[in-house]
Amino acid sequence: MLPATMRAARLHEYGKPLLIDELAVPRPGAGEVVIRVRGAGFCHSDAHVIGGDIPFLPCMPLTLGHENAGEVAAVGAGVRTVKDGDAVAVYGGWGDGVCDYCVSGDENLCMQAQWVGLSNYDGGYAEFLLVPHERYLVKLKRLDPQVAAPLTDAALTPYRAIKRALPAMSPDYPALVIGAGGLGQFAIKLLRLLGGSEIIVADIADDKLATARELGAQHTINSRDTAALEKIRDISPGGVAAAFDFVGVETTLALAFGATRRLGRVVQVGLAGGAAALTPLFSWQPEVSYSVSYWGNLRELREVLAMADDGRLTPIALELAPLDDINDVYDRLRKGDIKGRAVITP
Ligand SMILES: [Zn+2]
Repeated sequence: MLPATMRAARLHEYGKPLLIDELAVPRPGAGEVVIRVRGAGFCHSDAHVIGGDIPFLPCMPLTLGHENAGEVAAVGAGVRTVKDGDAVAVYGGWGDGVCDYCVSGDENLCMQAQWVGLSNYDGGYAEFLLVPHERYLVKLKRLDPQVAAPLTDAALTPYRAIKRALPAMSPDYPALVIGAGGLGQFAIKLLRLLGGSEIIVADIADDKLATARELGAQHTINSRDTAALEKIRDISPGGVAAAFDFVGVETTLALAFGATRRLGRVVQVGLAGGAAALTPLFSWQPEVSYSVSYWGNLRELREVLAMADDGRLTPIALELAPLDDINDVYDRLRKGDIKGRAVITP
């Protein structure tokens, strides 16, 4: 039985702290599922939304939280594949299900996609979460929902980016990861599982670089160093096979393009708004290709969760925080004080 009301952390106004509101617990309609949220990852993009840096929310107040996992609390008529009590992770990109992107499996690219907690749909910074279709749920075997929650974005997003770049990768050339926050840390782990090449990590924070080395990066470079590009070329005179930019400002994109070898791949993941300046005929690396990787699809989420469930993909450092501490988590993330990923436990 679902209770009548629940607590939810909601954004009422950009630049203001989230408010803990008392809301009616959603009831599942036909085909829908209500999840009791056990973990909701606090993402940098949430910090950008709360701060008003990327003010794209269609409506407010809104419950944020797009990295969600928990247990099935109630199912609507016709739901067949999950039942009450099942531990599940929630895929957060909810498309129309009928367009070409959706039917070919890339629901994350649907023009009508509604991202949970970033759209008209309330997210997981609440005790309960309404999920509009059972296909968005991936059942967890052994994995704790609090560990699974950040995987739905912080691991899924670099996973897709790395899969895109695999054809360009080679054991003869390293891969470059720019930005060693939550996504970058999962990128290091995933490159070690999938990539087969050495890893160079660039970040502006020395503590993040220390974390990168703990996770297995062979080389780290402080990207505030004006000689950062030369240092990468010293490590690999031919350039890197693939550069993953998890930041996406002008300087990081310039570093990514400057470091990538001929036939290499630059994959931009971070959406900080920078523009890449390209002068292909004058660069030292013709035939570099460039792509933007955007979140991940349902199939990729299943692959990521399978790797985590059987222990191949281990968690990054998690900091669990109750709903009441969510504004404190926001402040600390802004200051760069979260080592890995903060997970709200409503
Ligand atoms: Zn679609």
